[in-house]
Amino acid sequence: MTSDVYPPWIVLHVPHDSTTVPADVRSQFLLDDAELGRELDRMTDHLTLAIFSDPSSETVVVSSTVSRLVVDVERFPNDIDEPMAARGMGAIYTATSHLTPLRRRLLKDEREWLMQDYYHPHHARLEEAVTMAVDRYGRCLVIDCHSFPSVALPYEMADPSKPRPDICIGTDDFHTSEALAAAFVSAFRLEGWSVSLDDPFPGALVPASRYREDGRVEAVMVEVNRRLYLQEGDATPLPAFSETAERIRRCCRIASSTI
Ligand SMILES: [Zn+2]
Repeated sequence: MTSDVYPPWIVLHVPHDSTTVPADVRSQFLLDDAELGRELDRMTDHLTLAIFSDPSSETVVVSSTVSRLVVDVERFPNDIDEPMAARGMGAIYTATSHLTPLRRRLLKDEREWLMQDYYHPHHARLEEAVTMAVDRYGRCLVIDCHSFPSVALPYEMADPSKPRPDICIGTDDFHTSEALAAAFVSAFRLEGWSVSLDDPFPGALVPASRYREDGRVEAVMVEVNRRLYLQEGDATPLPAFSETAERIRRCCRIASSTI
C-alpha cells in the first residue's frame, strides 16, 4: 500500500468545519451579528475539510452541512447520554463558548426539527458510508477530523495556561487498537510535531449502529492545534496553510496505510 492516497476503507468524518447558519435558525440565537461572528471564529474547526480531504482522491468524506452552533453532530442525540449537555452543549447548544446564553428557549418541536433536518441526515450519511466500506473491504476506519484553539475556551473548563500539544490523537477503548493509535502518534511525531493521546480531547466518533458492537469498524480522532495553520483571532489561514495541510494529510495516509 502506498501512502499517496488514503486506503479505500477510510471514511473522513468532518463535523465542525461549516460556518453555515440557516436564516430560520439564526433567529434562535441571542447574539448580534458581531457576537455570532466571534462565536463562529472561536468554535468552528476552520478549514478542516480542506486540510483532511484530498480533492484529487476519491476518499469518502462525511461533513456537516451546518455549523456546530446549529446542531453538533459529534454529540449524542439525547442529552441524557451526553456529558456536555450539562454545560449547555448537547447536540443543540444553549450556551456559548464563554458559558453565556446562546439561544432562546426552544419549543420541543423546534428541537426535533433541528434534529430531523440536520442531525439525523448527517448520521444516515455516515452509517451508509461505513456500511459501504465494510461491505466492500471487510473493514472501515473512521478518521474523525477536528481542530482546537491553542488556548482553552471557558466551556472546556481546562486550565488556559496549560501548554497544548500540536496534535491530539483521540481513541476509543473498543474501536481504536493500540497499534492504530501508535501509528498515528508516531506519524505526526516524525513530522516534528508534539503529540498527545486523548488530551486535551478524548474519544473518537463511531456510527451508533456499530458502537461497541462491530470490531471491523475502527476509529481514531485527529485534532490539530489551530496555531499550526490559522491566525486564530480572525480565522485567517497562515501563508503556509497548503503545505501544513499536505503534511497533516500525509501523516494520516501513512498511519492508516500501515495498519
Ligand atoms: Zn471539533
